[in-house]
Amino acid sequence: MPPTADVVVIGAGQAGLSAAYHLRRRGFVPAVGAPSGERTYLVLDAEDGPGGAWRHRWRSLRMSTVNGIHDLPGIEQPDVEPEAASVDVLPAYFGDYERELGLAVARPVRVRRVEPTDDDPGGDLLVRWEGGGRSGAVLAKAIVNATGTWSKPFWPAYPGQETFRGRQLHTADYVRAEDFAGRRVAVVGGGISAVQLLEEVSHVAQTFWFTRREPVWRDSFDSQDGARAVAMVADRVREGLPPSSVVSVTGLIHTPSLLAAEARGVLDRRPMFTRIVPDGVVAPDGELVPVDVIFWNTGFRAALDHLRPLHLRAAGGGIRMDGTQVDGEPRVHLIGYGPSASTVGANRAGRDAVNRLVRHLDGAALTAV
Ligand code: FAD
Repeated sequence: MPPTADVVVIGAGQAGLSAAYHLRRRGFVPAVGAPSGERTYLVLDAEDGPGGAWRHRWRSLRMSTVNGIHDLPGIEQPDVEPEAASVDVLPAYFGDYERELGLAVARPVRVRRVEPTDDDPGGDLLVRWEGGGRSGAVLAKAIVNATGTWSKPFWPAYPGQETFRGRQLHTADYVRAEDFAGRRVAVVGGGISAVQLLEEVSHVAQTFWFTRREPVWRDSFDSQDGARAVAMVADRVREGLPPSSVVSVTGLIHTPSLLAAEARGVLDRRPMFTRIVPDGVVAPDGELVPVDVIFWNTGFRAALDHLRPLHLRAAGGGIRMDGTQVDGEPRVHLIGYGPSASTVGANRAGRDAVNRLVRHLDGAALTAV
């Protein structure tokens, strides 16, 4: 018989740690070595150490150039220089947070599959994991999935892509602009990462910016705009559609460095190329643009492959959500997903998921008596 936990949290980025914090607050204890009769939780995380996706962000992403990182619940971020690299500051903060609260995150543990144990919709879920050269399974009454998007970069397909002789990379592979010094670089994508990295690379390389749609620029973005954007993504997932990127609903903001890039002509956007040839890309009007590098800043998708055995997908191609809960599946919550894919959203989603799971588990316990 596999070991058991009332709630398994999958992923320990901002969302997973928020869920763990609220589980502790509601009286759950770490499953390993728990006295009988206590409600238990387990946090499984695929990384080698704390920080979630912040462990992998490029060094030039400074605390002054991120969009604003919300504190984890209960413990504030340390005061740091604005020029400090987010890849240093945030993993260290997450590590201190886990230690101080005794959250007992198990690493490196990657969940490969979550399966129903029988046809009973109220039955336990079997969480199968691998890591550190071992594999195993845990029986859970419910899961809180907080696996983010970083491990699932989205690469669009274009004709001729496999013939390209230069380098192709995705945002997730980016290390530093100097790697492109003196090269001709096609930067693809209309999101925040695309424009930030376009600006950065343009200082050392000749860049060409390609987007499918004309980008929408704004001069500012306030909390009402933010609430509207989140509500639009929430509407989509409520209807079972795939969540859209936040930029598709917010537009791009003119920061001082992007205004300077605009003045240098770096933000002259070209319509998306139609095919790729060995030495470059071909524009819709047939013009060949010779490039050495194609840099795909084309976003990420939710990392949910391990949930496939649960058949959660709706006809619309997404997962129909009821708040943080998968609609009609009270054992499964998705946090950091869709409208909660931000540090503030992940915090709230962790709290909401736990509150709702406690009600679900209380109800199940009453039914069992
Ligand atoms: P993550 O931080 O990605 O954590 C997910 C965790 O789950 C990881 O540790 C991962 O290893 C683990 N995992 C994945 N699959 C499995 C599995 N199968 N089994 C076990 N573990 C697994 N938001 C803001 O609010 N402000 C910003 O300034 C900001 N800047 C951003 C900049 C970039 C470049 C990007 C890409 C995003 C940015 N965001 C920002 C969004 C923000 O980072 C996330 O929405 C937020 O951190 C929530 O993280 P998360 O916990 O959902 O995911």
